[in-house]
Amino acid sequence: MFAKTIPLFRLFGIQINLDYSWFIVFFLITSVLALGYFPYAYPHYPFIVYWIVGAFSAVLLFLSVLLHELAHSLVALRFGLTVKEIDLFIFGGVALIEEEAPNPKVEFLIAIAGPIASFFIGSFFFLLAVLYPVDDIINGVINYLMFVNFIIALFNLVPAFPLDGGRILRAIIWAKKDLLTATKISAKTGTIFAYFLMFMGLLSLFKGNFLNGMWYGLIGLFLKQASQRSYEQTKISYILSKYKVQHFLVTVKPLLPEQTLYEVFSYYYPFYHLRIYPVIGKDGKIYVIDILKFKNLPQEQLMKIKVGDVAEPIKVYVSPFDNLTKALRLMNKYGSDELPVIYENTILGVIRRITIESVIEKELSKGA
Ligand SMILES: [Zn+2]
Repeated sequence: MFAKTIPLFRLFGIQINLDYSWFIVFFLITSVLALGYFPYAYPHYPFIVYWIVGAFSAVLLFLSVLLHELAHSLVALRFGLTVKEIDLFIFGGVALIEEEAPNPKVEFLIAIAGPIASFFIGSFFFLLAVLYPVDDIINGVINYLMFVNFIIALFNLVPAFPLDGGRILRAIIWAKKDLLTATKISAKTGTIFAYFLMFMGLLSLFKGNFLNGMWYGLIGLFLKQASQRSYEQTKISYILSKYKVQHFLVTVKPLLPEQTLYEVFSYYYPFYHLRIYPVIGKDGKIYVIDILKFKNLPQEQLMKIKVGDVAEPIKVYVSPFDNLTKALRLMNKYGSDELPVIYENTILGVIRRITIESVIEKELSKGA
């Protein structure tokens, strides 16, 4: 989704990334603090102190957001879901949890963990403020962080999907109805809240507050897109969950180790038009070959290379009884357009992405 990220470090097996857009918000927060809040509330410091303290506060805010996302992620990990990465970007952070929660309870717990973490961080800074009741710029930093963490907790609790509050709402409706209806309703509240933010943005613009106006407007736009996209994704995985791989696979005659790549290109490819071919190894195990890697080799070389020499052990496949949601998820996860279909060490064929996409298209046009 956000291609330009800087990998920072790994925590609990989760890759933490910084999106380039984060630097915009870092600069904005630092300058608002250094030019506005700190000089106004704590005058008589040298100019440079405001910038250093401003940047320091922005970094602590960044850590607060990271802890919020980490809270979501740790609960997800606890329930066996895969958390690929946490991306920090202009509007905060996002934990990329690979699967949907298996049930409403897990969804609820993952969603509420973030605001609870922010609330605790806010309370921690509140305690610091009590323990350090000196009215200086350090107290200013403490107060600022207490304030923003409480704001993060509250803003995220607004029941507007895909904000945490919207996920909580979805979990509650899901517990009573089904996931699709729950997502539809909570995405609708998400869109309404997004329009409300955009309206607030316009209002700020008319009042002459350009920065606030832009900010509200951009967050509104972002939320509107995110809520619609999340709904579409849920709808698609709901549609695909009704269909089994067995009804959509291309049956393929497995390759044998002694066949040459030339045979594959001249007899198999023109017939199947596949990229991935399953191979039965001499040891009886199943291997795969991706012929795209050899596409540009000259004919003489293709005639010399044996399938058995270049086939690789099978890493990812689906069972005929898996549903298409799982097949598509694995394709996305491994960046592949074709997956072998295997049942109890027997090769049945290959399932293709374009087949799944045509199922989606057909079903969506039915509903429209
Ligand atoms: Zn959150």
